[in-house]
Amino acid sequence: MNLLIKKASLIKTGPERLEVLDVLISGEEIKEIGQDILSPGASIIEAQGKILVLGLIDAHVHFREPGQEYKEDLRTGSFAAAAGGFTTVIAEPNTTPPIDTTVRLQRLLDRAKKKSLVNFYSKAAISRKMMGKSLTDISRLKEAGARAISDDGNPVPSQRLMRNALIKGKECGIPVTPHCEESGFYREEILRKQEKLGQRSSNPLMPYSSSGIPFTSEAGFIKRDVELAERTGASLHISHVSLAKSVEIIAEAKKRGVKVTAEATPHHLLLTEKMAKEIGPDAKVNPPLRSEEDVAAVKEGLARGIIDIIASDHAPHSAEEKSRPWDQAPFGVIGLETTLGLVLTFLVRPDILTLSQAIEKMTVIPARIFGLDVLGVGELKPDAKADLTLIDLDKKWKVDVNQFYSKGRNCPFNGWGLQGKAILTIVAGRIVAKDGTIVPELIYA
Ligand SMILES: [Zn+2]
Ligand SMILES: [Zn+2]
Repeated sequence: MNLLIKKASLIKTGPERLEVLDVLISGEEIKEIGQDILSPGASIIEAQGKILVLGLIDAHVHFREPGQEYKEDLRTGSFAAAAGGFTTVIAEPNTTPPIDTTVRLQRLLDRAKKKSLVNFYSKAAISRKMMGKSLTDISRLKEAGARAISDDGNPVPSQRLMRNALIKGKECGIPVTPHCEESGFYREEILRKQEKLGQRSSNPLMPYSSSGIPFTSEAGFIKRDVELAERTGASLHISHVSLAKSVEIIAEAKKRGVKVTAEATPHHLLLTEKMAKEIGPDAKVNPPLRSEEDVAAVKEGLARGIIDIIASDHAPHSAEEKSRPWDQAPFGVIGLETTLGLVLTFLVRPDILTLSQAIEKMTVIPARIFGLDVLGVGELKPDAKADLTLIDLDKKWKVDVNQFYSKGRNCPFNGWGLQGKAILTIVAGRIVAKDGTIVPELIYA
């Protein structure tokens, strides 16, 4: 059946403006965009005053399947995505076991076809078992559909391994997306090495690399990785940037022509370490929340295009895990059901980003970085796949974790008042969520 969206506002650029148009969807595709389209028998959606955009893409999520389905699974994760206005997600490979072979990747993608309401893509691990020791078979993983390679949750401690990953990534045309933060696992390893060598950094959070250069948590890794990307000519995408220093390094690298892109999360854009202490373990993330100056710098980097995309790093944990004391609670916050509202309320309303900038950072730019346009995610135009999100910019609502589809309740924004929400999520021509609620017949399907 045809679907006719009447009088929706479409974002046009150069100069940025809204144009009121009808959009006719037939089957899985956009059939026509124009004024006063007639389509007898089509089901009509009145969209006056609402913004129709390409389906939102979240390029960094953790759906925990396989292995930790008590935290989230492909179905509940995809429900959370659809409810939040996302039609496409790219999952991180740090599942149990990690996605480090083509068999595991294929099995995951097959399962997602059956269970996910939204388009589901996955990254694959950089190193086998994500142990940072030997490379996975990157070219075969790319052939099997991996959209990037990542050891998310852990940095890649070995410079040689990272260089080889970048060389392979360039050869196969797949971006490398490091998690630039010293994890507990890695910190201990570095400290053990230093002990052996008889050197000791005065600050255990600032260990020294094998070359004697201190890693200032993420910034040191980013510096190393952009230099390796520069030497190898590979594409590097930096996950969840959180420090002013990191923004500076990425800005300089971009100026030199390094093929580096970067992402920021709503929590690193809106919360500080001081707020994390007040909120408790629900705000415990890796990299951690930072100072006000860092938050301001990440925001400015986003506005200036140094940080290319917004991604949630949706990382669900069980209520029991997050109720542990701070030092024992796991890292991560959920984000799929709040990201759009937070971006519209705190970045677009105060004019930090224009509406089109914000939407591009959640649609065309991630699609370009991760090569999704070849799969039909692209411009709003006839014959394109009908992955669409209809947004009500005025809608006021309150974040309530108990209303979430995600199994996770670890949301540091619980209780916040927001303005702006996805009121319709359409995947391949099919309405999957209305006003933040999954279409009932799909829940039981
Ligand atoms: Zn990470
Ligand atoms: Zn992550």
